Amino acid sequence: MLINADLHIHSPFSGGTSDTIDLRRIAAGAKMKGLQVVATGDCLHPAWQREIKKYEENGVIVVDGVHFVLGVEVEDKNRVHHVLLFPDFSAADEFRERIERHSPNIREEGRPKVSLSGAEILERAIETHALLGPAHAFTPWTSLYAYFDSLMDYYGKKPSFIELGLSADSEYADRISELHSLPFLTNSDAHSYMPHRLGREFNRLEVEEITWDEIRRAIEHNRIVLNVGFPPAKGKYNRTACSSCYRQYEKEKAAQMHWRCYCGGTIKKGVRDRIDELADSPRGVHPEGRPPYVHLIPLAEIIGQALGLEYHAGIVKKRWEELSRLGSEIEVLLDINISLIRKSAPPAVADAIEAFRNGTIRIVPGGGGKYGEVILP
Ligand SMILES: [Zn+2]
Ligand SMILES: [Zn+2]
Repeated sequence: MLINADLHIHSPFSGGTSDTIDLRRIAAGAKMKGLQVVATGDCLHPAWQREIKKYEENGVIVVDGVHFVLGVEVEDKNRVHHVLLFPDFSAADEFRERIERHSPNIREEGRPKVSLSGAEILERAIETHALLGPAHAFTPWTSLYAYFDSLMDYYGKKPSFIELGLSADSEYADRISELHSLPFLTNSDAHSYMPHRLGREFNRLEVEEITWDEIRRAIEHNRIVLNVGFPPAKGKYNRTACSSCYRQYEKEKAAQMHWRCYCGGTIKKGVRDRIDELADSPRGVHPEGRPPYVHLIPLAEIIGQALGLEYHAGIVKKRWEELSRLGSEIEVLLDINISLIRKSAPPAVADAIEAFRNGTIRIVPGGGGKYGEVILP
């Protein structure tokens, strides 16, 4: 069977997240979106663990039909973020025991800081049978390639995967030959269960059944059949830009200005420019078995643009819910016959979905922390 899995999200115990996040709301959001599996996020945090344990039965965590796997993001001593996935609570607890004395805030923070190197954290992940890979690997802060030029040198051995982040896709990442041997994960890193965040990136996996062993095998043995996510330009760190006023720069110009914007703010190197520096080839050279990458834009944003409203406006939500009666968001965007969509949506919205399918939607690239903008034809 094929399942859609979003393997990196956060709980209310990480900074910058919504207080109202709980597993029931995440499960409801996942269902509307068309996800069968979601990582819990923040699974080392004591209070969030208690929430997760409410739904655990015989080692399986299922909420309203949506399966959860234990996952967490940690920050190492070099400020690099890593995503970890655990087989069960005892593995997660064992990992926590091994890093606890190196972490000042593991009891308070959903995304704990750990004063160990990436290699030391990977070692502990392997000992506890967890999967580990660098989170949003190319973003200009808190990512591996923000501070280091080689993933293999940084870890000293092969991690389980690399998470591409919203501003990159396979075409970008496969320009770097050291990544050819790694599975790519595309996850939302959602800080909310709202449909324009949860599942905005996800992985389609081929599994026999929805169990940890099968999910692990799918990641490790080339059974990721599809990566789905933003067109890279939609990501908020795609272009080199000021993190205060979002003015965009050519990389050479930014360097000339010592990465200081005219406004006084800091200029952040965009993912596109960073990958240009790291690449050994001008195009993505896909290794055998690399799955296709499908670019997706959240439906709420497409509706918002079509109606000239913000994606969080009440009427956008109403239209989104009407369309969701036809199927999951993913089905509405990709699969459901457009004539059916026309019966359930105003003409402008149906036109916008058709434009998305035809590839005639344009994106004004994001950068410096500002998302790219969707422009309808
Ligand atoms: Zn992160
Ligand atoms: Zn500026």
